[in-house]
Amino acid sequence: MNSSRIAARVQRIKPSPSSAAADRANELRRQGHSIVNLVVGEPDFDTPAHIRQAAWEAIQRGETRYTNNSGTVELRQAIAAKLVRENGLSYGLDEIIVTSGAKSAIYTVLAATLEPGDEVIIPAPYWVSYPDMVLACDGRPVTVPCPESDGFKLTVERLRSAITPCTRWLMLNSPSNPTGASYTADEYRALADLLLEHPQVMLMTDDIYEHIRYDDSDNPHILNIEPGFRDRTVLINGVSKTYAMTGWRIGYAAASADLVAAFNTLQSQSSGNTCSVSQAAAVAALEGDQSFVSESREVYRQRRDRTLESINAISGLSCAAPSGAFYLYVDCADLLGRRTPAGKLLADDTDVVMYLLENAGVAVVAGTAYGLSPYFRMSIASSQQVLDEGCARIAAAVDALI
Ligand code: PMP
Repeated sequence: MNSSRIAARVQRIKPSPSSAAADRANELRRQGHSIVNLVVGEPDFDTPAHIRQAAWEAIQRGETRYTNNSGTVELRQAIAAKLVRENGLSYGLDEIIVTSGAKSAIYTVLAATLEPGDEVIIPAPYWVSYPDMVLACDGRPVTVPCPESDGFKLTVERLRSAITPCTRWLMLNSPSNPTGASYTADEYRALADLLLEHPQVMLMTDDIYEHIRYDDSDNPHILNIEPGFRDRTVLINGVSKTYAMTGWRIGYAAASADLVAAFNTLQSQSSGNTCSVSQAAAVAALEGDQSFVSESREVYRQRRDRTLESINAISGLSCAAPSGAFYLYVDCADLLGRRTPAGKLLADDTDVVMYLLENAGVAVVAGTAYGLSPYFRMSIASSQQVLDEGCARIAAAVDALI
């Protein structure tokens, strides 16, 4: 490739590792191998019928044209009502922008606010896209390892040592992809107390998994704990995970009006509004029958419990119960140093993942992709049958190690 044709901002980043792992699994499948794909980070359920119906009706009504750049009034009203109802947070319509998925919201926020060299604190393990998005927007990702002994969560001490005068953003994702870790009110309070000393640090909260939670405790937002942060916080959310709507591409950001105006300017010159039909569907998702949310959560919970038991029964693997999201982040440290039946040494989690794929036909993603090793992430957003098959294959593959 003629790299001089490609901008430095793109040369600094790499394709999403989970997409790369999914592509490799699909490639092997095409070649005729039997592959259990536990890579995907999307619900395996269909979008509920009433939401699909709303999209169909929107098409019939002719809602097939450009909408407001920031999203239809109906959808922003539905989002504002949701934020009050579910999160106790109040936003006006000029404080909300609808985007093409939460992913695009995060990118737009970073692109609209980062100056070259600005630092963004990203607790690790993190969602794979955060550091690359920061790099693409000329910022500096500052990843802070948060070990399992801290519940994979950012502590005040670690945050304190990561903050510098150049810190622009702290990214928080609760429940987290890939660990499912969720912050409690006390943990937020402690982080907030430190952040009060550093008013230049803005907060981005990625709440995309807020409804996929397995403990019955409250699900606080840091803004409930410290309402004074409202002006320095951008809340990111969307309908992809909660309503099994990954393909519809509806996310949003809520923040103070001056910030949202800047996001709007950038979006108006980059992508414009997101799909009109999807926006009508998202109104139905947020305002219609909510039973899918608790029903799907119960299914995920059963899968989590059973898959966790199967994984923890494998000598050499261990996994703590995630309190949310739909992934297991499996510790594979005990496999390192062992050899495959073909004699290859497993030196790191990438080797483990390659071994599971090539020898057992199970596709998972290496912890290196999420910034904390040695682990691998397996998605539980697949049927129990697929998960059982995956666990059986992993058990046999681990058993075959020398
Ligand atoms: N944040 C996190 C933590 C995610 O896991 C994902 C999806 N994998 C997103 C944001 C993006 O979601 P969307 O489909 O709304 O772009």
